Amino acid sequence: MSSLPRLAAQPPDLRRRNLSVLLHTLQSNGPTPRADLARITGLAPGTVTKLTAELLGARIVHEQPTDEAQRQPGRPRVPVAIDRGHLRAAGVHIGLLRTTVGLVDLAGGIVEERRLTHRSRRPESIVRQAVKALRALVDAQPDGAVLGVGASLSGMVDPATGVVPEHPALGWGEVALRDALAAGVGLPVVLDSTMRALPLAESWFGGRGAVPSMLHVFVGNVVGAALLVDGKPLLGPSAAAGYLDHLPTRVRTRRRCACGRDDCLAASASDIVLVEEARGKGLLGPDEDLERLHELAASGDATADRLLRRRAELVGAAVALLVEVLDPHVVVVGGGVILGSTYLEDIRRAVADGVRRPLAQPVEELVRTTSFGPHAVMFSSAALFLDAFYRDPAAFTGFDRS
Ligand SMILES: [Zn+2]
Repeated sequence: MSSLPRLAAQPPDLRRRNLSVLLHTLQSNGPTPRADLARITGLAPGTVTKLTAELLGARIVHEQPTDEAQRQPGRPRVPVAIDRGHLRAAGVHIGLLRTTVGLVDLAGGIVEERRLTHRSRRPESIVRQAVKALRALVDAQPDGAVLGVGASLSGMVDPATGVVPEHPALGWGEVALRDALAAGVGLPVVLDSTMRALPLAESWFGGRGAVPSMLHVFVGNVVGAALLVDGKPLLGPSAAAGYLDHLPTRVRTRRRCACGRDDCLAASASDIVLVEEARGKGLLGPDEDLERLHELAASGDATADRLLRRRAELVGAAVALLVEVLDPHVVVVGGGVILGSTYLEDIRRAVADGVRRPLAQPVEELVRTTSFGPHAVMFSSAALFLDAFYRDPAAFTGFDRS
């Protein structure tokens, strides 16, 4: 190939793909000199120099002069790094009780977060409240600094159309949420299910590097899972892959699920069910929540501890079933079930007991907890936009001059 004349310009799609490769490499490797970027990516040094100049111009990356770089003889090897100081992605998560909005930098650092209690569950009301808060965040940044919005809510979401086909807990049906948010905020919006956003955020920003497959199981007010293979979430023809509400736990509960059975995961293990149960036992007052139940357990209340432990074991048994079927490289557990990580060991034990074949690695390495703590839902929503941005930065920054 080297004897052929060089093409005058790379086709835009190849150039854009290379920009993505460079950005992805910087994101996963941290500050890297251009020569090393060329070596790692296999791109020609001249291409790296040219594309890096474009990324510098758009303030997506910056140079990080170091003492060491100055001491090197010859051409200084100044590392290039993702610029955390200027461009932002917004995140919006719509929960059952509140909406959380915020801003993150391009490397996934949280800049700001605000929680808005819903005044009503009607979609118009929730969208209006979210748009107002997002606009305030955008307006407080320099012009053009916020590139776009990642939005998520749990339950069914069709990421291709941006429509929420139904959300029984909110009482929504056929809500064109993505377009409503985009029209209100005036920025591109990427919408998907929180269940898929969470593992996406873990794989980009969880600090574990690339894993070939990740199962993310969320047990909070809602329950659900997602399987990420080579960094992409499995969607399914109904966008319903990972729907866990009616996964049988094989433990009968006193509560009957809406489907008629009495051992469904959502009806036996969600935060809502647990809090109701704790209130029924007089452990929690009407305004006290799951955090209070954890506090009680931590301060020695045996009943509170038993409730939480039993829930963790149910979740562990459900995870075991999924591990047996899917054989993921990593399982990340998030939501109220691992609040404070206290009950992670119970989940792990139930997984180890429940899987009837040898595990490829110790259960402590297989089953881990979320990296984002209380910010997980806003952060993972923003990560939906960052994922789209990293895949094609030129599509969002207006520096595509080819
Ligand atoms: Zn059910």
